Amino acid sequence: DCGPVLVPESELPIELPEYVQTTGNPLAESAAFVETTCPECGAPAERETDTMDTFVDSSWYFLRFLSPHRDDAPFDSERANDWLPVDVYVGGEEHAVLHLLYIRFFTRALADVGLLDVREPVRQLINQGTVLHSGEKMSKTKGNVVSPHEYGAETTRLFVLSAAHPEQDFEWTARSVSTAYDLQQQLFGMTQSFVERAAVRDERESHDEYVAREVDRTVAAVTDHYERFRFHRAVSEIRTLADLLGQYREYDTPNEQVYRRGLRVLARLVAPMAPFLGEEMWNLLRGDGPVTTARWPEPESTVDRYDVERSLVETLRDDVREICDVAGIQDPARIEVVLAPDWKFEVREVVRDSDDTEAVVGTIMDDESMRAIGEPVQQYATTLQSERRELQPVLSPADELAVLRRAAWLLGDEFDAEVTVRQADDTGESATKADPGKPALYIE
Ligand SMILES: [Zn+2]
Repeated sequence: DCGPVLVPESELPIELPEYVQTTGNPLAESAAFVETTCPECGAPAERETDTMDTFVDSSWYFLRFLSPHRDDAPFDSERANDWLPVDVYVGGEEHAVLHLLYIRFFTRALADVGLLDVREPVRQLINQGTVLHSGEKMSKTKGNVVSPHEYGAETTRLFVLSAAHPEQDFEWTARSVSTAYDLQQQLFGMTQSFVERAAVRDERESHDEYVAREVDRTVAAVTDHYERFRFHRAVSEIRTLADLLGQYREYDTPNEQVYRRGLRVLARLVAPMAPFLGEEMWNLLRGDGPVTTARWPEPESTVDRYDVERSLVETLRDDVREICDVAGIQDPARIEVVLAPDWKFEVREVVRDSDDTEAVVGTIMDDESMRAIGEPVQQYATTLQSERRELQPVLSPADELAVLRRAAWLLGDEFDAEVTVRQADDTGESATKADPGKPALYIE
């Protein structure tokens, strides 16, 4: 007759029955739980069996995780205010409309009652994609699952991370799994063979500097990819550096310092995705302590323009291949790489920085040294002016020359040719042909 009545605080907590065998609501099946007396009038009464759903707990567990040992409160408000919001929430998109809505709702309600300062629980959401098999989502009911132990946890993890951006779905194929496996074998094999029987060299030559710079660039690129959750691109960078180190060691006895550092960097960079492999490599290379607590590698020299340096070298190699192809040169004996003269870099700089496209050619020709070169400057400035908006960034002439000299061994190795790198005179054929970022090439 009293209607719904609260259990007095002194009687809390009400302990749940230990075990009830039922297919329905277990509480409703337990007479010991259901049958009770009314706290107000003492008459027979029934307990409510429709208690809180799991979504209630999953809406604030992240707050409890911050202070799991507190037994006098659900969570520590001060600590929660210090830690929240969560930096990144990783979950499937099926959570987007229910669970993620609830955690926002709960957080706001808790803030309204004064238990939190934060009103938004999560800063960034990443919905991971689905692994497909034969075009369909893997599921136990469809029976199209692949069990990770067929390949091992480490290979499976590396493959899944390397297959696609975490937000994209991707297809599970045995071939792409074996690509991940091959990378593991490659990294471990090159570390082991280096430690066991490496002939090494002490002096540093220009091709050693190229590899040292590539190690720096890989560190910068992989660090950036990790920070943006582009694990597939991190793997691709790691693979590229491993291939380069392999080529370097084949080309010449490697410089001990450069090669060892390259391997140590690879161990450190791969460890978040393949911790066992990273640890084995690190141990073989006598790194201090476990790789997981080792300092994250840092570039030894400035790498803020590494993308420009890389594309310069890539374009050069593509151009040589294309020229050989088009001209039908099977086996070039000599490759001459000729950098644009300084004045072309200067003109380019002025055009890129100018607002007034009309006056820029005149401004350039006002300069006495430019006037001394004359006609070629005027022509080049006029051409550039019309392409002003599409001009890609280039290095300084000194940097471009240095990068090309360090990279020359790659052409020598690939084409088995003698490679020279020089800068063009101010006028003449090479000065006309070569542009900043795109040197002239003579192949015979
Ligand atoms: Zn009553």
